Amino acid sequence: MKRRDMIRTAVGAATVLAAAAEAASAVQTPTAAASNGIADVAVIGAGVFGVWTAEHLLRAGRSVVLLDAWGPGHSRATSGGETRLIRMSYGANELYTRWTIRALEEWKALGRDCGEPIFNRTGVLRMGPAGFPYITESEKTLKTLGVPFEHLDAAALAQRFPQIGMEQLGAGLFEPDSGVLLARRGIQAAAERCSKQGAIVRVDAALPPTGRGEVRELSTASGASVRARQFVFACGPWLPKLFPELLGKLITVPRAEVFFLGLPGGDRRFAAPDMPGWIDETSDTYGTPDIEYRGFKVGIDPPRAPFDPDTAVRVVSEESIARMRAYVRKRFPSLAEAPIVETRVCQYEETASGDFLIDRHPDFGNVWIAGGGSGHGFKLGPSVGQYVAERVLRGDAPDTRFAIATHQRGARRAVD
Ligand SMILES: Cc1cc2nc3c(=O)[nH]c(=O)nc-3n(C[C@H](O)[C@H](O)[C@H](O)COP(=O)(O)OP(=O)(O)OC[C@H]3O[C@@H](n4cnc5c(N)ncnc54)[C@H](O)[C@@H]3O)c2cc1C
Repeated sequence: MKRRDMIRTAVGAATVLAAAAEAASAVQTPTAAASNGIADVAVIGAGVFGVWTAEHLLRAGRSVVLLDAWGPGHSRATSGGETRLIRMSYGANELYTRWTIRALEEWKALGRDCGEPIFNRTGVLRMGPAGFPYITESEKTLKTLGVPFEHLDAAALAQRFPQIGMEQLGAGLFEPDSGVLLARRGIQAAAERCSKQGAIVRVDAALPPTGRGEVRELSTASGASVRARQFVFACGPWLPKLFPELLGKLITVPRAEVFFLGLPGGDRRFAAPDMPGWIDETSDTYGTPDIEYRGFKVGIDPPRAPFDPDTAVRVVSEESIARMRAYVRKRFPSLAEAPIVETRVCQYEETASGDFLIDRHPDFGNVWIAGGGSGHGFKLGPSVGQYVAERVLRGDAPDTRFAIATHQRGARRAVD
């Protein structure tokens, strides 16, 4: 079945579960299909957190409805970009390194399943001043967990990567086994795999539950309804809009901007293996080498300002272009005049600490929330999905670091 055929738009007043019977008969694994018109779990949002939650629920033999307002990996979703870095360095936050190690294997397996290069082993370089604490702490964690890495001092960095300008740089942490994920294609492949396992994957927008207690059914924008025993809202930057009282102050949604620079013809210095994925601690910038000939990616964030994921105009400003040019002139001088071949305006969904927000909704016993990707959540989707699925199935309380109460107490940014 072609992907575009699989993800069909729910139209008119046809209910998702009326479609269930049709979908169940169309798939090969009827055990995973909803029975009696009630799914075990409805996952709302088919971004990286939602698709992998659905995947793990399916592996546990549960019937799943996966709903997305615009479709998996659409242009406005935070997971809808072309590429995302996957790197193991997380300072002293060992949990995230462990989760990334596991997640990388899942991404590789997804690539094998769908026959597409979802993971690109380009290596990832984190660069900064000599003795930069996040680099030093990351190296300790990687050593403890047996993750291969190289420490590069200024001389080694300059010799290995002559295309990088060295101003303010004194150290590099290079992870040879990390790299770049094809984000949008990965999400679509994961959603398609869920569908093949019997999940009902639909394009429709769920309306948030009202009142208190157990939720049996959600209405949708098209006039349909979704019936399930449990519900997971994995709605990324839309979470504060869906649950403004609970999440309005806990998840902020700032603008993010990405540029793709065209390379001189025949110049492969900014493509793997010469250039890895990179993170620059001196300026909070990051990027990828030239992947699939789309250009050299530079992510450089504008000053923080609230961003509406539904209505914001996604065109970069002259100020942003000037900021990007000034940065590239310093760090990648040979690209100072490189043409901008593509731009992308997206958004983060940030918690104050950078920890994800995963918890049961306090007003509804069977509604879970999974979000707060905080600019680093993509790579971790497979591990987050497993974690959420386990919580939903066992009813366990989440770890303190992810709990709503912890986020309500507030904390300074500790995870990047
Ligand atoms: C520019 C940029 C660069 C980044 N770089 C990296 C990186 O290099 N590495 C990394 O690991 N992470 C990175 N991130 C972070 C990562 O992309 C996010 O943490 C992650 O994609 C968030 O996924 P999500 O599933 O929570 O949200 P989303 O991908 O936004 O998914 C939420 C989904 O919910 C759907 N939805 C919303 N409301 C409803 C509703 N009512 N009914 C049905 N569906 C609904 C939406 O349509 C959407 O598809 C980056 C983020 C940005 C913006």
